[in-house]
Amino acid sequence: LAAAALAAAASVPPAAQAAITFQVTFDDPGGTYAAYYDRIRSNLVAAGNEWASYYGNGHSASLQVQLSFSDVATVSTASVANWFVRQSNGYSIYEQGAAYEILTGKDPNGTTPDIRMTIGRNGYLQNELWFDPSPSKQTATVPANRTDARSVFLHELGHALAFNGWRNAQTGALPGAYESTFDAMVTAGTFNGQPQLYFTGPSARALFGGPVPLTVDSYGHLGNAAPGAGSGSLASDLMNGLSFSRGTRYHVSQLDLAILADTGFPTSTQLASLGNAALAVPLAGSVPEPSTWMLMAGGLAVCAWIRRRVEVRPRA
Ligand SMILES: [Zn+2]
Repeated sequence: LAAAALAAAASVPPAAQAAITFQVTFDDPGGTYAAYYDRIRSNLVAAGNEWASYYGNGHSASLQVQLSFSDVATVSTASVANWFVRQSNGYSIYEQGAAYEILTGKDPNGTTPDIRMTIGRNGYLQNELWFDPSPSKQTATVPANRTDARSVFLHELGHALAFNGWRNAQTGALPGAYESTFDAMVTAGTFNGQPQLYFTGPSARALFGGPVPLTVDSYGHLGNAAPGAGSGSLASDLMNGLSFSRGTRYHVSQLDLAILADTGFPTSTQLASLGNAALAVPLAGSVPEPSTWMLMAGGLAVCAWIRRRVEVRPRA
């Protein structure tokens, strides 16, 4: 078996060894939405390639993204598995399965999908999303009355890579003695007398100039509507939790990359300063027991965000 594996490895060109690729499959009984498959696939792969471009050479991962369609208002996404990273202050810290695979080249859950994404089928897919006919070039103008699907996928993949956790969205309390790599950098505070969660990773704090305000009630996102915390530049960030503007292309920001770096996910531009310690990976023996694994997967927060700026809810 080892000899066969070596032979297989030797036959793969070096360029293919150091690549992060995305494969898109559809869980769509009857092929109801087959007319959208090619458009979804090309835009999703283009979004994945933008994230992958920041990880530099030397990473090798094949990420399976499984798409389905349901009655959600917009879209939701999560890594399917989580991977134990370390113990810290009595808490077990887990990273997103997709992040683990990119960092180690090992697939945490075999042939089952790494990322599951669900797209709303009651108009969001058909009437709101715009699929760039050439998403790798991005030369076309996004229609003013549509949301750019590639940008949405880029945002969703951010959740699957790092922007996710198990904290109570209001209080910031953890449900147990476990947390995500993102959770580990979240601190509960107040803003104008109201509860407010902040991302306090050192890279993000340095870049932003202080703790980064997370979206009230949806803390896997950045910023809030005025007069909430972080109502300025964060509102236009790829990972903002307010809305996506129609007719607009979004891209991974420096702050997004800093947050990924703080969750133990160094990007090529930040690798040098972070050093090798940030690349330390867990041993296979650290995999949680199956029951824990299921609990973790089932407890994942998903992205459910507001579709249009005019529909932003007032803060509670
Ligand atoms: Zn989101």
